Amino acid sequence: MTNGDFDALVLEEGPEGLVASVRRLRPADLPAGDVLVRVSHSGLNYKDAMILKGLGRLVRRYPHVAGVDLAGTVVESGDTRFRPGDAVLLTGWRVGETHWGGYAQMARVRADWLVPLPEDLTPRGAMAIGTAGFTAMLAVQALEDHGLAPGNGEVLVTGASGGLGGIAVALLARLGHTVAAVTGRPENAGYLEALGASRVVDRSEFAEPPAKPLLSERWAGCIDAVGGDPLAHLLAEMRYGSSVAACGLAAGTALRTTMLPFLLRGVKLLGIDSVMCPRDTRLATWNRLTSLLPSELLDAITTEIGLDGLVDHANRLLEGKVRGRVVVTL
Ligand code: NDP
Repeated sequence: MTNGDFDALVLEEGPEGLVASVRRLRPADLPAGDVLVRVSHSGLNYKDAMILKGLGRLVRRYPHVAGVDLAGTVVESGDTRFRPGDAVLLTGWRVGETHWGGYAQMARVRADWLVPLPEDLTPRGAMAIGTAGFTAMLAVQALEDHGLAPGNGEVLVTGASGGLGGIAVALLARLGHTVAAVTGRPENAGYLEALGASRVVDRSEFAEPPAKPLLSERWAGCIDAVGGDPLAHLLAEMRYGSSVAACGLAAGTALRTTMLPFLLRGVKLLGIDSVMCPRDTRLATWNRLTSLLPSELLDAITTEIGLDGLVDHANRLLEGKVRGRVVVTL
């Protein structure tokens, strides 16, 4: 950075679709906000990959700087809660969608959106967790709030080789649960066991909606990152009174289920949203994540790239080829 200018991955609409290029910007180019942050790290989530490919109409105005997560250091603050030099992180609040995000060495954001970086967490570690890991923790907490306790039985995690799923496996295992990890990539079995899965289940078991509205009861809880037919299938296998935390849609948005798991087994389908999660819950959740996930574990799930590697990794993520989390170093 010289004269305050900085690198950003800028998305623009061209005649042949979206074009992403690394460009030099100045602080004056940034949107309004009360805190200027020097961004050291960001991440790549499923939603970022969709935005980088122009999918889902998540971004309506270009040029745009994507990146739903960011971590770094406060440079200027118009809010008494933050001072220059403070380490901060940000996830959600539609940053990277309706407001410029973390794929730039500088971001100007609202103080209300910022979380002070927990003491034992580095900016890189925070982005290894990112929205995916934050959502996994919210999902674990939702299951706990609805009665899940260690010893209840096997807890299922779908999309386990992905970011959210992998961190969900690690969190549940560290909290003493027995975890069955669902993946379409059996070559990742060793990786998932190292994260704490007690066994790995092939995704093909859940590919279709269930043949009958209710199947044999198997799972004491579930964190689902994929939605669609796999969710319909596993709902029919949930144990009496258990809960599913529905987090994602990698397998589709339609849900072809029946009322019977809900009415005859009291199964609960808990929707999880990380984006508009209230600030108090955010602070407590980040502290809990920090205490549960050691840096070695975060290193083991992380691939590190620069701004110039984002488009390629977004393509690979949408093809289901990325394992764990991708951290972007600015
Ligand atoms: P990833 O791409 O890292 O993980 C998704 C995983 O899902 C893949 O690795 C793959 O795992 C599995 N998968 C992919 N395609 C399919 C398919 N067609 N059928 C079945 N399984 C599939 O994404 P993230 O972890 O970042 O996000 C996961 C999901 O959670 C996304 O849908 C995302 O939008 C959502 N999400 C929601 C949030 C919220 O606030 N509710 C916040 C963050 C994410 P494997 O190879 O092991 O089968």
